[in-house]
Amino acid sequence: MTEPLVVLKDVNKHFGDLHVLRDINLSIGTGEVVVVIGPSGSGKSTLCRTINRLETFESGSITIDGKALPEEGKELAQLRADVGMVFQSFNLFAHKTILDNVTLGPIKARKTPKAEAEKRAMELLERVGVAHQAQKFPAQLSGGQQQRVAIARSLAMDPKVMLFDEPTSALDPEMINEVLDVMVSLAKEGMTMVVVTHEMGFARKAANRVVFMADGAIVEEQAPEAFFTAPRSDRAKDFLGKIL
Ligand code: ADP
Ligand code: MG
Repeated sequence: MTEPLVVLKDVNKHFGDLHVLRDINLSIGTGEVVVVIGPSGSGKSTLCRTINRLETFESGSITIDGKALPEEGKELAQLRADVGMVFQSFNLFAHKTILDNVTLGPIKARKTPKAEAEKRAMELLERVGVAHQAQKFPAQLSGGQQQRVAIARSLAMDPKVMLFDEPTSALDPEMINEVLDVMVSLAKEGMTMVVVTHEMGFARKAANRVVFMADGAIVEEQAPEAFFTAPRSDRAKDFLGKIL
């Protein structure tokens, strides 16, 4: 059997006195889609940020494709390119066009020639349904369109794994599905994904596994249908009682 693509072993992290990640053990296989769910403050964002090395951690290990997370320097830049991240707030560059937002990473970090980067960017914008907006600026697009551009921008770096941290929670309700549909199709195409979301429709359609976190720890892991219909832990039962 091949080694899982992302492996966290006994990862612990504190913010001062707060034990924000507790003995996290999580393995994600190539092509697997893991939905992370749990109450606000349970450490979901910190988990994503730690996998992407936006946060440090004190003990344990994280490997991506068999390589340990580097602390800094060139290797870290490479790792960041391997791990795409899409945030709740779309974080597009406001003063750059949609096309430039997508080509910037490949041109700067990958040294891709401009014409090639633009060709690929247009393909990706096509794929997420915003190619006709390529010459506009982010503020001219709806939130749902901006978030789809953010996904295209991440994909332009050819990541091995994509992390999504509540990608639809800042969107107006009518725009949620257009973003989730892009994510479902990515999942179906075999992208390895870690998705923090409370969108059960997405979990049911696309996830292989639901990981439930509370107070910085993974409390249970189940297939989506089993988790939503028969959660095992009291914490998960309590949480689902509140969101369903
Ligand atoms: P979630 O995404 O599940 O809502 P977070 O990972 O954002 O949870 O936060 C987990 C806990 O860590 C919360 O109690 C939060 O207040 C705290 N926290 C998050 N970021 C920081 C930080 N930079 N400094 C101190 N505490 C933080
Ligand atoms: Mg969060």
